[in-house]
Amino acid sequence: MTVYNQILDEIKHQLETYLSQNPEVLACQCQQCRNDIVALAANRLPSKYTASREGRLLTGVELQSKQAQLDVFKAIVEATKQVNNSPRHPGRKVMP
Ligand SMILES: [Zn+2]
Repeated sequence: MTVYNQILDEIKHQLETYLSQNPEVLACQCQQCRNDIVALAANRLPSKYTASREGRLLTGVELQSKQAQLDVFKAIVEATKQVNNSPRHPGRKVMP
């Protein structure tokens, strides 16, 4: 049985949409910076662990609420700022 943190999927999904609509918000778009944002955002949000298909469906419905979507989005915006200010790898800084 796999235990699954559903908030991660929600963050990844929203981050892809956010970056495709606003590519300028992230100075470096490499996979590492994106992963860092997902990790940082996940740390700011309550975990949503599920271990069954039924649980996953229920949590999926919960995560579609306006408030949940907004919380995920705010965490992504904050995490993006954090990664822009200190990317974890050298030499890729695009912003002055
Ligand atoms: Zn990067």
